[in-house]
Amino acid sequence: MDPMVRTFFLGFIKIHILHHASKEPVYGLWLMEELRRHGYDISPGTLYPILHALVADNMMCSVRKVVKGKIRRYYRLTGQGKVALREAKAKVHELTQEIVAE
Ligand SMILES: [Zn+2]
Repeated sequence: MDPMVRTFFLGFIKIHILHHASKEPVYGLWLMEELRRHGYDISPGTLYPILHALVADNMMCSVRKVVKGKIRRYYRLTGQGKVALREAKAKVHELTQEIVAE
């Protein structure tokens, strides 16, 4: 994939992750399947660094839960993440109004 196109998609993917984490706690495998459903074939090697970066930037926080004897890390939005998502949504809306309407 063209490196510049990849940077566009990484932004879309981050917004998508924040959107779902605002609805309910999400985990890596679920997000990979959800993103695949939307046409993004994302590997764990790409997804997990994004999740860690969103946590490091205080957009999300994570908690560990034991599910069927395995530790699973769930992510949910922080207050700062909610603000960022709201701003991103407004920009996405504004952009789609222009570029999709043409
Ligand atoms: Zn989705």
